[in-house]
Amino acid sequence: MSDWIPLELRNFVRQRARGRCEYCQLHEDDAGLRHQPDHLVAVKYRGATVESNLAWYFAGKARKSSLAAFLSDSQD
Ligand SMILES: [Zn+2]
Repeated sequence: MSDWIPLELRNFVRQRARGRCEYCQLHEDDAGLRHQPDHLVAVKYRGATVESNLAWYFAGKARKSSLAAFLSDSQD
């Protein structure tokens, strides 16, 4: 499910990342698709829709686990 993110905020995150996926550094031009903003802490875990909780990422492959999932896994 994608959560609505204001265009201004999308543009900010995209420019900050310079069009590269912030997880794997793949550039949009190389992906052939526009990347998307991703919540680091998912909204369902009460992650906020703010620039510090958003990463620009390549959505053309399996979605990266959210930071919240990563943190809960690493607590075992
Ligand atoms: Zn990536």
